[in-house]
Amino acid sequence: MILHIANQQLTLLEKEARKKHPVEACALLFGKLGEKEAVVKRVAVTPNVLESAVRFEIDSKVFYDAFTKANKDGLDFVGFFHSHPAPAEPSSVDLQFMRLWGDAVWLTFSSIEHRFAAFQMRNGEVRTLTLRTEGKLKE
Ligand SMILES: [Zn+2]
Repeated sequence: MILHIANQQLTLLEKEARKKHPVEACALLFGKLGEKEAVVKRVAVTPNVLESAVRFEIDSKVFYDAFTKANKDGLDFVGFFHSHPAPAEPSSVDLQFMRLWGDAVWLTFSSIEHRFAAFQMRNGEVRTLTLRTEGKLKE
């Protein structure tokens, strides 16, 4: 599975992660979610209402509005971004939520390892996705 995301979107997410550190930053990712590829076309940065360094939660109104707008624009929900003041791998809390969110992609940025990583749960198993970054996105 390949996750396509523009360099400028990763830059935006890394900046957000550094700004919020040690609180987890979070965002919603929209675009196209397929069997072998996911393409991020929109990043909606959202406040972490928990202000926590180990968990994130998105306000339901913010969540609803972002989904409504994406639906109107013909974009799929691709998944979540959140930062970790820890290694990039999913935490035990993340694993619980990954089970609930089906095919959603989980993009993380570790502010101690200074790297992005992306995961997806399939049939109860966590897979690591290949990140492909481009300066400009194919539509
Ligand atoms: Zn996490």
